[in-house]
Amino acid sequence: MLRFAPSPTGDMHIGNLRVAIFNYILAKQQNKDFIVRIEDTDRERNIEDKDQEILAILQKFGINDDQLYYQSKNLHIHQHMAIKLVEQKKAFACFCSEQELEAQRELAKKNKKAYRYSGKCEFLTQQEVLKSDKKYVIRLKKPESDITFEDAIKGEQSMSPGEVDSFVILRADGTPTYNFACAVDDMIHGVSFVCRGEDHTSNTPKQIHIRNMLDYEKSIRYAHLPIILNTEGKKMSKRDDASSVKWLLSEGFLPDAIINYLVQLGNKTPKEIFDLHEAIEWFKLENVSKAPAKFDLDKLRFLNRAHINRTDDRTLSKYFGFADEQVGKLAKLYTEEASTLKEIDEKIVSIFRPKNFDNEFGEQMKILQQVILDAPMFDAFDAFKKHLMEKSGLKGKNFFKPLRLLLTNKPNGPEVADVYDLIKGYITQIVR
Ligand code: GLU
Repeated sequence: MLRFAPSPTGDMHIGNLRVAIFNYILAKQQNKDFIVRIEDTDRERNIEDKDQEILAILQKFGINDDQLYYQSKNLHIHQHMAIKLVEQKKAFACFCSEQELEAQRELAKKNKKAYRYSGKCEFLTQQEVLKSDKKYVIRLKKPESDITFEDAIKGEQSMSPGEVDSFVILRADGTPTYNFACAVDDMIHGVSFVCRGEDHTSNTPKQIHIRNMLDYEKSIRYAHLPIILNTEGKKMSKRDDASSVKWLLSEGFLPDAIINYLVQLGNKTPKEIFDLHEAIEWFKLENVSKAPAKFDLDKLRFLNRAHINRTDDRTLSKYFGFADEQVGKLAKLYTEEASTLKEIDEKIVSIFRPKNFDNEFGEQMKILQQVILDAPMFDAFDAFKKHLMEKSGLKGKNFFKPLRLLLTNKPNGPEVADVYDLIKGYITQIVR
């Protein structure tokens, strides 16, 4: 089993989408189920309806789950497992107050040392525990030896017992922490391979330790993907618009182009332009670089143009409110100068918008408008042009400039002959 485990706590980041894509591809390649697990146990950070937004995004990208879970549904299992660990003396109740812990964290910071739990409550007697009416959390005892694992991208990783520390697995309100819920769920869902962002590398030894303590015998393999950097070489954050999948979609990047971009980013791929299904045929995690990859909007724009040109004409026209192959072809023509659906839409909308005659070619535009409205339908641009020239008496710049403005509302753009060929069916509507 493979899984994608988003938290409904913010907009989907391209890094998360990349994780979803990779897990989906690996699941298909290995003929295993792909699980989507909404990690909604952090009640304070959950945002209402973010889960639905994430699921809708996955659907748009064709990343369909075989199984869908909400982590909170497993709450009773998490609590049961935590109690079991306490009973086995592998975990203990900790009554330290938040103020006390904060003071210790501050002190460690002042002394330039990594904060470690003091161990204060680990050796409380059962009587002391039962007598106390203070709020408590449950901590898992730190391991006795290093926790080591082999990362499919980063190689061997190891963490000392002190670094793993005696960390909290159940909060005072009875909800599990991320590490505990995640480790337990990966176990009960039979996950065999975890591919996720590099920011989770230091959580992995803790999650392995949890499952060791629960006597889980199967081992889970891991791959942590390098982070994505912005153009300044810093981690792409919410402040970078392009980090948000929702933003990219609203700007008119096609899901296939975004997938293509995220799969080839920091990767050796046998092809430059491909879709998800093609990637399933040859994708190899070993080819993904260990080094962080830099986000390059120009490359994404290039791939978007390529995918727009790969889209079936009629399907493409639907993005612009038509169901007409000619409009799809027109959109493709505009990829000469526009890269997103939004940019192309602006061009197409311009063509159909009432024209502005208030410019240096306004007079000529009016003459041409009248001739076109009185003219029969011409299939070929040359015949159309000949007729207009004859009837209007205009030529050269005084003919071509106003004609372009009348047909496209723009002073520049693709060849007028090419545009005419695709819009002639709407000509009387357009020249108004
Ligand atoms: N819920 C975590 C996140 O969104 C992912 C956890 C995981 O993949 O293990 O960052």
